[in-house]
Amino acid sequence: MKQLIKLSMLILLISSCSHDEGTEVIEQTTADSIKKLDMNEVGNNYDQLVLDIQSNQDLDFIIGDFNLEMRNMRPAEGITVENTIILEDEKDYRTIIIDHNTESIYVNYTDIDSKRNIVLYGFKHSDHLENLLKQKEYNIEFLTNRTSYKNRSSKIAKLDYISTETSFLMGKPILTTKKEQSQARIHDDNTKECGFQESEISDLAKESTILNRSGKTWNVIIYKKHSYLSTSSIVYAMKNTFKSLSITDGSDWYYSHIMYANINVIYEGAPKGFHNSDSLTCLNEFVKFLKDGGVQNNRSTNSYMYLNDDDWKSTFGRASKSLFGFRVGVSTNSGTTFAHEIGHTLGAKHYNGVVWDSSIGMFGWWGSSVMCPADETQWGVFRRHKYYSQTNRNKVRSTLN
Ligand SMILES: [Zn+2]
Repeated sequence: MKQLIKLSMLILLISSCSHDEGTEVIEQTTADSIKKLDMNEVGNNYDQLVLDIQSNQDLDFIIGDFNLEMRNMRPAEGITVENTIILEDEKDYRTIIIDHNTESIYVNYTDIDSKRNIVLYGFKHSDHLENLLKQKEYNIEFLTNRTSYKNRSSKIAKLDYISTETSFLMGKPILTTKKEQSQARIHDDNTKECGFQESEISDLAKESTILNRSGKTWNVIIYKKHSYLSTSSIVYAMKNTFKSLSITDGSDWYYSHIMYANINVIYEGAPKGFHNSDSLTCLNEFVKFLKDGGVQNNRSTNSYMYLNDDDWKSTFGRASKSLFGFRVGVSTNSGTTFAHEIGHTLGAKHYNGVVWDSSIGMFGWWGSSVMCPADETQWGVFRRHKYYSQTNRNKVRSTLN
């Protein structure tokens, strides 16, 4: 594999050298080919906006002073989500998700120059946006008041936030300096919120006997507490987490090997009544519900997740890779938490390190893993949707294979 990559890079080098500069044609995106979408009033324009997004590769999303340039948007590969359209650019800095379940448009934009991750939501129904903004991940008051920001530079603490009746935009800073990295490490030993069930490891032997399935499509069956819950950030996080199986961190990116895994997301309605207690009780009752309902514990193809609309008292989520034989988890409606718990169902363990991610920007940047156990109230903003550690990637790959 190493040889092959070196060879193809060499060929690439040769072919670019032999290019005749005199006849070079520079392809440009003309202003005419860019569709401008004003997201200030999604509401009744939702259907038209969806048509515009689907029929244009180059888009500008405008809200307030922000102009998010989305170029060469194409259907994402490797992920199918019920009743949902996912578009991405080739570098993976931009994603658009049209979620027909909640009639919402989600735009994720990573701006390497300003070191910001910008999220834009537009809803057909204003009450859906209201519900979303009550969730901690998007609650601006919650984000700016939390203790972790108090000792931080104003550059880091600043969050851009714009909201209308049916749309909102939030610019979150991404990790920027080595100093921030060392601060992140202080909280390495905080594991209380995750609740990975280490006692279930004994099922390893059972797993190795069912590795001979031919496909590589993984089903994530999400039992939503409410049908109106928007899962766009979850879908975005899962897409990126699964993609990171193909990338190695740090300096050995050159020797990365490619893994093709498909995710298939299916939605189910969750039963009522067992969500108000703590996450461990919720997890146990969820498994009982699956078992009693005669759901097959297809552990070579399926992860079962219960999606809550808010946090439990002290936890964001909980998961196991073999609880009564099920790969199962419960999670609050946050992309980072959900991807973390899915990781546990696939066998990934906590990884504390902050790594140099070569896939960010021209030369890479710092990021902490989605499997980082640190309290989300402190580090959620900086967590990237990647498996990162070689051990975790190997473990998840072997589960998927
Ligand atoms: Zn965990």
